[in-house]
Amino acid sequence: MKRILLLTTGGTIASRLTDEGLAPGLDGAALSHYLGGLPDSYDLTVRDILHLDSSNIQPEEWRLIAQSVYEARNGFDGIVVSHGTDTMAYTASVLSYMVRNIPVPVVLTGAQLPIEHPLTDGLDNLRTAFAMAASGRPGVFLAFDRRVMLGCRAVKTHTTAFGAFDSVNWPLVAQVNGAGLTIRDDAIPPTDGPCVLRDKLCEAVFLIKLTPGLDPEVFDMLLSMHYRGVVIEAFGAGGLHFIRRNLIEKLHAAAQSGMAVVVCSQCLYESSNFYLYQAGQKALAEGVIQGWDMTTEAAVTKLMWALGQTGDLDEVRTLFSKSIAGEVQNRR
Ligand code: ASP
Repeated sequence: MKRILLLTTGGTIASRLTDEGLAPGLDGAALSHYLGGLPDSYDLTVRDILHLDSSNIQPEEWRLIAQSVYEARNGFDGIVVSHGTDTMAYTASVLSYMVRNIPVPVVLTGAQLPIEHPLTDGLDNLRTAFAMAASGRPGVFLAFDRRVMLGCRAVKTHTTAFGAFDSVNWPLVAQVNGAGLTIRDDAIPPTDGPCVLRDKLCEAVFLIKLTPGLDPEVFDMLLSMHYRGVVIEAFGAGGLHFIRRNLIEKLHAAAQSGMAVVVCSQCLYESSNFYLYQAGQKALAEGVIQGWDMTTEAAVTKLMWALGQTGDLDEVRTLFSKSIAGEVQNRR
């Protein structure tokens, strides 16, 4: 039997109704009670590491999850992390960088309805996650609604539907159907070296979703607050305003101050390309880093991670010029 470690962190899957609404209330032992026949199919170990709604999962918790996963990598065939859905895509992305080249499958999952609810999707999601964890395919994945995605390509797209996540700009890694767990090996980036825990992060990264007419002085505020990185979700394939309210000159000031600026698109699907339009080329001339087809979650966490590894902006640019875990593809 495959040795599977279940790390629990909270989320709806482990929640109970309280006077203040749903809150994580079940520990791993209680959760195990609802696993149906799963413990008979795997050699299962359960460890509680957190009891949090994932809205409260932040860089400190990412480090704890990464360390727990890293320490368990040689003792188990696969690792499942149960986690709230709200920030699961951020955790999946950042883990992809922090435990790059992990030699076993690490599969995040959760649920839209608590495991105690008679209509829960949690058991189904755990089944898919356990099957992927037992598959022998190394990497960080997210399993939901009988589908498995690359962790750094997953985005939460629905608040209540069971199909809560989409795999953005990347094919599904696996699906459950009449043939069982059908895996697409060509959708799993190969490991390219030993696994090293790189868990340093820079939290001083801000995300700006551009709105028409956004006041460029927002950059002055970020600089005065000592932000070291900004991800801009720009318009369409890549544009930002520079008449009347000139964001481009603020990009110049940001670059002079050593702030790393990554640009991507507010469109969920397909790649940004700032070479296309004058407005984008002006931004590139000020040294912004292209996020190409990365999800916002993957771009924000990669910038936090990259700035945690180095203070040298050229090295940050180099880290963004290559894929760490399959998070970016459309580079020129
Ligand atoms: N608020 C919950 C959480 O992210 C939502 C969920 O798990 O589905 O922890």
